[in-house]
Amino acid sequence: MTDPNAFIDQVLEKLCIHIGDRPLGSRNNQRAQEFIGNSFRQHGCEVEDQDFTCMDWRGESVLLHANGHNIPASISPYSLPCNITAESVTLANIHDLEMRDIRGRIAVLHGELTREAIMPKNFRFWNPEEHQKIIRLLEEKKPAAIVAVSFNEEQPTPIFEDGDFDIPNAVVAKNHAGKLLNTGSNIALTIVSERRPSTGANVIVRKPGRVGKKKVVLTAHMDTKPGTPGALDNASGIASLLTLSLILQSQTFGFGLEFVAFNGEDHYSNAGETHYLDKYQAEFRNILLNVNCDGVGLKDSRIGISCMDCPEPIHSVCDETRKPFNLIEWIEPWVQGDHMLFVMNQVPALTMTSSGIFPLVDTIIHTKNDTPALLDPESILQSSRFLERLLINLDRAVGS
Ligand SMILES: [Zn+2]
Repeated sequence: MTDPNAFIDQVLEKLCIHIGDRPLGSRNNQRAQEFIGNSFRQHGCEVEDQDFTCMDWRGESVLLHANGHNIPASISPYSLPCNITAESVTLANIHDLEMRDIRGRIAVLHGELTREAIMPKNFRFWNPEEHQKIIRLLEEKKPAAIVAVSFNEEQPTPIFEDGDFDIPNAVVAKNHAGKLLNTGSNIALTIVSERRPSTGANVIVRKPGRVGKKKVVLTAHMDTKPGTPGALDNASGIASLLTLSLILQSQTFGFGLEFVAFNGEDHYSNAGETHYLDKYQAEFRNILLNVNCDGVGLKDSRIGISCMDCPEPIHSVCDETRKPFNLIEWIEPWVQGDHMLFVMNQVPALTMTSSGIFPLVDTIIHTKNDTPALLDPESILQSSRFLERLLINLDRAVGS
């Protein structure tokens, strides 16, 4: 059998260095999908590619000029292109948005309007009324373009990330907002970008159980945001899943196993997740447990697990299994991730991530700095060994 340590190194190098960023719909994404499918096949698995259509997007460049200054800006992911010079209108809250005439102008959004990222307008899993209202008002009032002042001081963390929202828009870090915030000045905004219809696929492996239809579904997403090597988010989770398929090659359980490399967690439309749910929802009642790996393997960090809606017998098995693994600890449940697809459909989930990942969100995650140097391959191997042990223990407790 392939040495699991060597295999993990190979997966990380392939996904993060040879391929690099792999946003859904891109050529790189299709290369990642092929690599993952082939790895499963080498471990003796039969692979289903669940194909679907999706939008590919490329952002080339942005220029923002206001009050005689060039201001550092980023293109909001999925923005349409534009080349506009217009008067600016500064808006800080929903009341401003309702009252001001912004048609044909450049709306500069800040304050309450940009205190958090606005959910994509067609996002199904969680979408606050306030976000939908902001989108609706902007679409009614038709500004020529939008410049959003991010809540993040240092980084232009996107406010809009929505391929169904057709007003061109860019984002600036809060530090650089000073020269933008006087209404009536002229702003020039040029965005070079392209939306293009494309395809993607979830990579699915099913290993039938010895008894009945019950199954454990093990998931990790393969896609990244544009421009990031996506080591921690989420080459490491894919490596954990593939390594598990390697070490389980000749094992069977009472329940079935399903491995799903989801394609779309970091894409505005969550296309892979949505298609999976639409096609397989009737099977959800047979799922004993979803295990989702996202962000495992951070160096100098423990592995954080949490149970969401796990019945007592499953929770006890998870806890007993954890005890001999020094690296693994319980953490509070977190709600961003593919496990929510299951939890919202009454399927219990166990999530695995790195306990130390949360301070890195907005600074490292989704940036060019998410590289394999952040990872400890031994920690990824531990996550797979834990899952192997968990399946063996679950099989004894509830398998048949
Ligand atoms: Zn992720």
